[in-house]
Parts: sequence; C-alpha cells; structure tokens
Amino acid sequence: MSQNYWSPLVKTLVPYTPGEQPKVANLIKLNTNENPYPPSPLALQAMQQAVGEGLRLYPDPDASGLKQAIADYYGVERQQVFVGNGSDEVLAHAFMAFFKQNEPILFPDISYSFYKVYAGLYEVGYKTVPLNEQFQIAVEDYQQPNGGIIFPNPNAPTGCLLPLAAIEQILQANPNRVVIVDEAYIDFGGQTAIRLVHQYPQLLVVQTLSKSRSLAGLRIGLAVGQAHLIDALERVKNSFNSYPMDKVAIAGGVAAFEDTVYFQQTCQAIINNRTWLTTQLEQLGFDVLPSAANFVFARHPQQDAAQLALKLREQAIIVRHFKLPRIEQFLRITVGKAEDNQSLVTALQAIC
Ligand SMILES: *Cc1c(COP(=O)(O)O)cnc(C)c1O
Repeated sequence: MSQNYWSPLVKTLVPYTPGEQPKVANLIKLNTNENPYPPSPLALQAMQQAVGEGLRLYPDPDASGLKQAIADYYGVERQQVFVGNGSDEVLAHAFMAFFKQNEPILFPDISYSFYKVYAGLYEVGYKTVPLNEQFQIAVEDYQQPNGGIIFPNPNAPTGCLLPLAAIEQILQANPNRVVIVDEAYIDFGGQTAIRLVHQYPQLLVVQTLSKSRSLAGLRIGLAVGQAHLIDALERVKNSFNSYPMDKVAIAGGVAAFEDTVYFQQTCQAIINNRTWLTTQLEQLGFDVLPSAANFVFARHPQQDAAQLALKLREQAIIVRHFKLPRIEQFLRITVGKAEDNQSLVTALQAIC
C-alpha cells in the first residue's frame, strides 16, 4: 500500500546496512574499520582555512587540485584520476559506466557487500565466485565469460591480500572487460595495482581516504585508470552531480596526500598493532586469517561468534559479526589504538 507511488525497481532494492555508529560515549568501537588516529593536522588546518566567505561560490566541478595532488603522489597524469564522494560513490559510477553488459560480472562470494547492492540498483547481473578453503581468491576461477570483475584487495572482510602477480593473471585472462581492484585497505601492507594501469587498459584501481587517511567523515574516494576509463566515469558523474566534492573536502584531501610523513607513521602504527593483536588472539586459541588490512578476521573453535560479539558488547566493546554462510563463526575486529586492543584482549581473556 505505502509503496504504491514507488518506481517498480525501488520495490526490489535491498540496501546496504552500514556498521552501527552508536551515540553512546566511551565505547571501544572496533566494528567499522575506521582509523583510530586523527586525520593529519595539516589536513585539519587546510579544512579550517577553507571554511569562510568563499563557500558562497560553487567548488571546482572537476576538483582538479585534488586530482593533481593524487596524480603527483602516484606518478600518473591528472587525466588518469577520478574523484568522488567516498569510494562508494566512485564504485557506483563504475558499475554504471562499465558493468551494464550482457554477461554477469564476477566477484567473490565473501566480499564487500555493497557490490550486490549496486548490481541491484543498476540492474547488473552478477555471479559470485567462491573463495577457496583458505578463504583466498583463486585466480583460475576468474577465467570464465563475464561482463566485468570486481574484488577488494586486500579482500574484505577476510583481510587476505592477493599479490600483484596474481592480479596480473586475472588481467591477462580478461583483456576485454573492466577489472576493478577496490584497494580500500591497500596502505596497510599491500602493493597498489596503480603501477599496472599503464600496461592494462581495462584496469581501474579504486581507493578511499576513509581508512588509511583517517577521513571517513569527509567522504573522498578516487579511481586511477587510463584516461578512456576516467572519461566514462566523468560522463556518469556529470549526468548525476556536477559538484560531488565540496571545497572543504578538496582542501583536506590535497593536504592529506601532501602529508606523507604523518600518513606513513599512522599506517605503520596500525601494522604494528595488528601484529600484536594477532599474536594475542592466537594465544587465546583463535584462528586468525593473515591480514594486510586494518582489521583481522578471526574465529574461535570453542566459542560461538555471535555469543562472543554479544558478551563483548556487554563490556562496551563492539566488533562486527556477519550472519552469512561460511563466515558466521568469524568476527571482524578493527585494529584500534594499543590501549583499545589491550582492553579487547583483556575482555576476551575473561570470556574464553
Ligand atoms: C570502506 C570500504 C569502501 C568505502 O569507503 P568510502 O570511501 O568510505 O565510501 C569501499 N570498499 C571497501 C572494500 C571498503 O571496506
């Protein structure tokens, strides 16, 4: 009844459910892979300076200053960079720009759950490809007819990294369809595939400032690929919203890419904390998948994951549990500051 006025497609949509953002104070929040460290002080300063009378005017529709900062950082041309309001928006435009083909696109059965949502929104057919028994992407399974391929690297929510040589195998087997590598977590220990874009005209690499640059609240995502792919994304973007990047975001994003020292320090701190947390969890009897991300994916052979998540919550610690096939006994735990990780381990010691 209440859906009478809706477009027919909207009745079929199953939207993404983000991890919760509770309004409670003093929570230890290890559920949405945010960075525990603040944004670069230089980025904060640049944003404060961008707030002023100039906001009366529209921002640069092309966000060329931000594109140039990203191009300089990665040693590519500005024409090879696309930016959007979070990488979720960049991914949405990429689905529209490349994946509306006759064959279904491919992505792993255990992966970022937004891919299915965009497939629904843009009416893109898809086929999921099972991860192997070790929860790794098996490259030989991506040698079948498809309308495109997308996967996160490192994968989410497993944290497992695919080496660049494996990504090249996928690219070599799929020269005629766009292959998107979603590198939301690449700065925590992986090698970016951006160095491959010159060689592979079908490769699009997507990144975000939400995780490794502590700017989830600002909403900046980017894509790097050959100019012909970027042109398609610009067409879609300019058919949707000419100004997705506001002046404050452009200023903060530029400064965040310029402050390489702070970026490297905070990424290294998270890598060190991940090593510590992994060792502690293993001592408590958890199996922890090898992670190259700012989270770990772990299961305990004697403890039910949903119960564990509940008991942690009673102690004001929140982690993510997915009630999904194959992974319902896992917890995805964001790597926090040293003291947060210590509180988590202390709580688990009491529970296990
Ligand atoms: C967090 C995440 C994103 C989205 O990041 P935003 O830039 O904040 O929209 C995209 N892909 C994966 C795999 C992620 O984990």
